[in-house]
Amino acid sequence: MKLQEYEFWFLVGSQFLYGPEVLETVSARAAEMAEQLNRTGRLPCRLVYKLTAKTNEEIQSFVREANYDPHCAGVVAWCHTFSPSKMWINGLAALQKPYCHLATQYNRAVPNEEIDMDFMNLNQAAHGDREHGFLTARLRMPCKVIAGFWQDETLQRRLGDWMRTAVGAAVSRSLKVMRFGDNMREVAVTEGDKVEAQIKFGWQVNTWPVGQLVETMEAVRGEEIDALMETYRRAYIFDTDDLETVRYQAREEIAIRRMMDEEGCRAFSNNFQDLYGMRQLPGLASQHLMALGYGYGGEGDWKVAAMTAILKAMSEGKTGGTAFMEDYTYNLVPGEEYSLGAHMLEVCPSVAAETPHIQVHPLGIGDREPPARLVFSGHEGDAIVVSLIDMGGRFRLLCQDIHCILPPLPMPNLPVARVTWQPKPNLTTGLECWITAGGAHHSVLSYDVTAEQMKDWAALMGIEYIHIGAGTTVEQVEQQLFWNDLAWKLK
Ligand code: MN
Repeated sequence: MKLQEYEFWFLVGSQFLYGPEVLETVSARAAEMAEQLNRTGRLPCRLVYKLTAKTNEEIQSFVREANYDPHCAGVVAWCHTFSPSKMWINGLAALQKPYCHLATQYNRAVPNEEIDMDFMNLNQAAHGDREHGFLTARLRMPCKVIAGFWQDETLQRRLGDWMRTAVGAAVSRSLKVMRFGDNMREVAVTEGDKVEAQIKFGWQVNTWPVGQLVETMEAVRGEEIDALMETYRRAYIFDTDDLETVRYQAREEIAIRRMMDEEGCRAFSNNFQDLYGMRQLPGLASQHLMALGYGYGGEGDWKVAAMTAILKAMSEGKTGGTAFMEDYTYNLVPGEEYSLGAHMLEVCPSVAAETPHIQVHPLGIGDREPPARLVFSGHEGDAIVVSLIDMGGRFRLLCQDIHCILPPLPMPNLPVARVTWQPKPNLTTGLECWITAGGAHHSVLSYDVTAEQMKDWAALMGIEYIHIGAGTTVEQVEQQLFWNDLAWKLK
């Protein structure tokens, strides 16, 4: 499903105590708020007012429907009046969808002159939201709390971001990853427990033979390749006369996409050590598939392939870009420190600062023909890098804030796409934190997804989350890892 096809259900807490007139007002206002919020254009999905909750049975019935409906990606709850929480226990204990507690109120200001006890009874979110928060805390359920006035842009943007995060959870729960070949020999961090990943994230990670991909490639028709070459011509600058090599990448792209679409897969991994029957490592092919929204991981890294697909789904419609990334080399000149990220070939052109060039160069490793690839530099801007690792018995998600810069000097002899960035809090402390926490060399780099969204996504998935930001110290990270290790053993 596309982002816009998901919806969120608005559930408003109240009770019978105040009489039918108050309940009618609450219901009318809740419908009005959902309508106005939808009209702001700041929510990526529709907010649908469903119910003013007054009884245990109503809430249980609401939760049954929310759990069942694939279009419902989450629930947004708010208490206009007081709403006793014991009537919410049965429903919320059974809820399987992401939950956001919107702590707001209908009116912005206290009306000094007119305020009386009728006003107080109708407008007591400050009272009702606290009773509601106690129960979600007592249930230990993941609950995103967003507080503020509902007409303020900041609140609307945060609610929109949370909706995207909840869609990321929905996409994760149904994600299928296609593996071609196993992990690169002897590499540790790309390994992981696929059964545990399916339990935690819902990912169906399975393998298909490279030989089947080769057969599918052989069956691709010339006209299909012609059409994709036209797409390449519209999007990229041809910086090569070797059209046969570019056409071979188009053939690979069409075949990989066909196999993924037939299986309903949204992400794939491959391994340059296992390209039996293929003349080129897919470069341009993998890059253009990522530009279309598919996830990818090199060297058999199915975890980063899945995460790339999820972050791309979360950022659908945004323009900053999201890419599979790998830390490669540093600039350690004092005052000019940065990290240079790239890959053998496969960086998504959604992060490009300029129109990417299609070039053909030999590949030093892998023993194949020189492949066509897109070459470009990443654009300037704030971003994050995200790494999911398997700690044995649990997954850990690392998220680091970074600031991407344009490469200070041209690199005319570097034949791959590259992104340069300054990690937070700075290169060396950020690196010490990342290595201490076991972060991988593979990551997802995104200009569109925020650290707050990744924290919320990790909470929805029930996994450990470590954030390295502007104020982070190595000592803090070490302490957090120590306590987390104990906590997860008790869990
Ligand atoms: Mn790699």
